[in-house]
Amino acid sequence: MNDKNTQDVHGRCYCGAVRFLIAAETEPFWAGYCHCRDCRQAHAAPIYQYVYVEKRYFRIIEGSAFLKWYTRAESARDSFKRFFCERCGSKVYNYLLTDKDNSEVELCGTFPSLFDDQEIATNNTWSPQVHEYCAESIVDLSLLHDDLPRFQKEETSLPK
Ligand SMILES: [Zn+2]
Ligand SMILES: [Zn+2]
Repeated sequence: MNDKNTQDVHGRCYCGAVRFLIAAETEPFWAGYCHCRDCRQAHAAPIYQYVYVEKRYFRIIEGSAFLKWYTRAESARDSFKRFFCERCGSKVYNYLLTDKDNSEVELCGTFPSLFDDQEIATNNTWSPQVHEYCAESIVDLSLLHDDLPRFQKEETSLPK
């Protein structure tokens, strides 16, 4: 994933109270579809699309007072939080503390479904690179005609 975003990308929650941007010149750290049960339940959706960027590129520009977070796994509370708008219930982003090249990196993962410009949501920069947790999928994957790698479980899902 070496594509760079060339202009700020704006997005908002369902009601519009929370607005965010991904700064220009951001390189997506990780972009894909997740089929895991945890994400499916959190989003009440059969499949979801995410794009993670380094935290410094992601900014809440309006409505931060509406943001609440929840994580089901107690053990992950310091490293993974799902932020949502308390007014409309829409997910806004995930915070993830992870490792890259043996050092900690803070990521924010948001959802192209929330981008103001839906054309941007589907261009190359933000396009999914992978299907994750296919072993848990509830959609018929044979109906998806893409050439993306399909990882079955967690150990194969992290970015290289
Ligand atoms: Zn909202
Ligand atoms: Zn997931």
